[in-house]
Amino acid sequence: RKRSKLTVDQYVEGILEGNVTILSRAVTMIESSKPEHQEVAQQIIEKCVPYAGKSVRLGITGVPGAGKSTFIEALGMHILKRGGKLAVLAIDPSSERSRGSILGDKTRMEKLSAEKNAYIRPSPSAGSLGGVARKTRETIILCEAAGFDTIFIETVGVGQSETAVHSMVDFFLLLMLAGAGDELQGIKRGIMEMADAIAINKADGQNIQKAKMARTEYRNALHLFPPTQSGWTPRVEICSSLFDEGVEDVWEMILEYVKMTRENGYFSNNRREQSKYWMFESINEQLKNNFYHHPEIKGELKQYEKKVLNAETSSFIAARDLLNKYFDKL
Ligand code: GDP
Repeated sequence: RKRSKLTVDQYVEGILEGNVTILSRAVTMIESSKPEHQEVAQQIIEKCVPYAGKSVRLGITGVPGAGKSTFIEALGMHILKRGGKLAVLAIDPSSERSRGSILGDKTRMEKLSAEKNAYIRPSPSAGSLGGVARKTRETIILCEAAGFDTIFIETVGVGQSETAVHSMVDFFLLLMLAGAGDELQGIKRGIMEMADAIAINKADGQNIQKAKMARTEYRNALHLFPPTQSGWTPRVEICSSLFDEGVEDVWEMILEYVKMTRENGYFSNNRREQSKYWMFESINEQLKNNFYHHPEIKGELKQYEKKVLNAETSSFIAARDLLNKYFDKL
């Protein structure tokens, strides 16, 4: 059955009523690459912006197998029990290659996805990191307008997507494992530096001792990092997502952070800085997109490419000429 087309106002009304079916359809518009869908999506977003912003946004990262979905499910259930409404979004640019999202997949969080106060949306499956990140940021707005007061943004801790997630959340949590190789598990120092907390997961059974040792190690490592702007000292805790131990404590810690940064002004300041950052990111992304998709530029690009390869012109001159042509055509 073909779904009837909704007007922008019908979309907005549905979203504000918390209608998840309509919310999903609006998110599909955001994710669509069709210009007419983008146009509708932008109008919906604009009307939702005044109702957005009243949530706690939590970024969660960790290597595959660290237990992200298990953790999210456990923590999510606590949040629902406390009367919260939770949206789980994902940023997974790798899905472009693998032709399927490995994150935020509904089947990964069965309990949570059966809950009416939880909304789980997999990562947009096409586009550059910049594009996927923008779409996720826009989806946050719609989710907040729909009444979700807690937003999780999940990403795999192996690429560059952490930076994008970090710049759209209030709290950035790094999920790690104890005793998995040389502790840092391919997690770059830069990612550790972004973390407001590290939770060492799978601290259960025979793993508890190792987890406690890792906790000490990471605590020592974090001490060497420069102090944060938020005034918050990053914490290292242990938890077991599978047995739901220490998970609620992680949430308590996040609430403590929110309270502290709201009081010292960092919370809203950071959000403003993030908005500014995303304005520039959106400009960059759209300039790039428009440039490379411009029909005439597309043709010229091929020719210039050849010229550069044949050393008939320098890369700098080629770039300058192409950009000049592009801006002349506008
Ligand atoms: P993700 O790839 O980071 O989302 O990791 P998953 O949540 O899918 O977890 C990977 C595996 O680790 C699964 O088999 C989980 O059951 C298991 N796992 C997750 N959390 C825990 C935990 O706290 N303790 C134990 N023992 N196993 C866990």
